Amino acid sequence: MRLVLLGPPGAGKGTQAVHIARAFQMPRIATGDLFREHATQETDLGREAKAYMDRGELVPDDLVLRMVSERLRRADASDGFLFDGFPRTVAQAIALEDHLADAGTPLDVVVRFNIPESEIVRRIVNRRTCPTDGSVYHLDFAPPEHDDVCDLCGTPLVHRADDTEAVVRRRLEEYHAKTERLEYFYWERGLLRDVESVGPVEEVTRRTLAVLDDIADGDAA
Ligand SMILES: [Zn+2]
Repeated sequence: MRLVLLGPPGAGKGTQAVHIARAFQMPRIATGDLFREHATQETDLGREAKAYMDRGELVPDDLVLRMVSERLRRADASDGFLFDGFPRTVAQAIALEDHLADAGTPLDVVVRFNIPESEIVRRIVNRRTCPTDGSVYHLDFAPPEHDDVCDLCGTPLVHRADDTEAVVRRRLEEYHAKTERLEYFYWERGLLRDVESVGPVEEVTRRTLAVLDDIADGDAA
């Protein structure tokens, strides 16, 4: 299975990516992780990317693509892979499509996690973070054992300044403005499938796996 996950911030895409990658025993590929890995190992690609980041510039698509294609050549990606947070633009999507076509391994599906904006706002506004170790709690879904302190280290939890409704709504607006054309690109190719990202994490995972099973059956038929 070769897939891309799309979803607005707060839709739980990152969590689902981990569960789905585990269920299919395939690597989860996130460009942020690739940047960090190449930077830490001081590869040529890493040094090139770092030069852009040090200047406060975006890493150009062509360099991102070289990192991605290097990642796809590793043995663990030979039977499938899952992209989390990539591609971000239509230009990247076209470059990825060309690359995968050359390799004879086109994408099977693009899963879009859908969730009402009010639900995202509720999730993020009720989020509390431990400033010491970064643990994340949620007042409704995953409250700390004792009011307002971290289960792990006892530090008082904080409400991050950017976890407010106004900031969340602005972030969502930016996301949709940037992602609309990308979603259309995949919709046009018949690859886009929607999964409702409401309810418990396990339920959303089950829904996603059902969609993927469907696609796999379709391939076999
Ligand atoms: Zn803590």
